[in-house]
Amino acid sequence: MTTHLSRYPLMWGETPLHRLHGLERMTGLEECWVKRDDLTGIAFGGNKVRKLEYLLGDALAKGCDTVITGGSPQSNHARLTAACARRAGLEAWLCFAGKHMGIQQGNLLLDHILGAEMKTTGVYGSEPLLEEMEKWAEEARQKGKKPYVIPVGGSTPIGDYGYKRAWDVLLDQLSEVGAHPESIVLAVGSGGTLAGLLAGKALRPAPIKLIGISVWLKADELTRVVVRMANDLLAFLGSDRRLSAAEVHVEDAYIGKKYGVPSDAGNEAIRLLARSEGLFADPIYTGKALAGLLDLFHRCRIGSRVLFWHTGGTPALFTHAHSFAREG
Ligand SMILES: *Cc1c(COP(=O)(O)O)cnc(C)c1O
Repeated sequence: MTTHLSRYPLMWGETPLHRLHGLERMTGLEECWVKRDDLTGIAFGGNKVRKLEYLLGDALAKGCDTVITGGSPQSNHARLTAACARRAGLEAWLCFAGKHMGIQQGNLLLDHILGAEMKTTGVYGSEPLLEEMEKWAEEARQKGKKPYVIPVGGSTPIGDYGYKRAWDVLLDQLSEVGAHPESIVLAVGSGGTLAGLLAGKALRPAPIKLIGISVWLKADELTRVVVRMANDLLAFLGSDRRLSAAEVHVEDAYIGKKYGVPSDAGNEAIRLLARSEGLFADPIYTGKALAGLLDLFHRCRIGSRVLFWHTGGTPALFTHAHSFAREG
């Protein structure tokens, strides 16, 4: 494995791994750990920072001065890309799905404060958005800029490598604290985070199940996406190891109405975590993932020693304030 990747350091150190005793008491879980990637150290944190360390490392190595990415107007990935680009001294251009920006709260508010260039595209989905980003990059080149395009979610082999590395870090942290979770549960959107962890596990096996809770795609489609991403990363790293669909476990029962809309179960999980731990999850990703974790446990589909990988997203709480108004 000779691939050399430049890393632009954005984290202040490794994120904490700690026990959730309060949640254990309220749920009957025997051991519940949390990996705090909501604390990745910049702009309210989140999982995209691990990807951006390598994506921006690549952008800087290539002498780029402008980062172009996209997502929904409330995209955590867009907010973190804008913040990390600023920190690296680069411009950030954000290409949004749909025709309307929507409410200037949460992530979109932060994008404004960060001074990101923003536009709506009228298109939806990762592929059409990538085409829009490429078109914008062409315009940027004509203006004499050197753009670096990052696909939706930052899920490329270079970005996903951040989570291959996170797997190695986690195994070391687990042995330091003497934790033995049977499963790790995390929210899955574009798929790169789970793919990076699975590639890490393929290269350094451990008896821990990785369970992805989809917030967007149906399980069969998401499985295909994650297998392809994990295998692209393994190939990129020069490994001969390949994953099959049977090695990928994703659940699509916790999406609720659709992507970007809070679910009752997700919001209930957010309240439970807040009231047992003083810790916040978000209504679009991590609340739904925690609802999935608890439901899988209650239905005995997973054991009672679990790790919840908190991937961030908390600015969305403010965007979706109304979804909490119903409860007393
Ligand atoms: C993007 C995101 C995810 C999902 O990560 P993917 O690599 O896109 O699957 C999970 N949680 C939060 C808060 C996110 O912003």
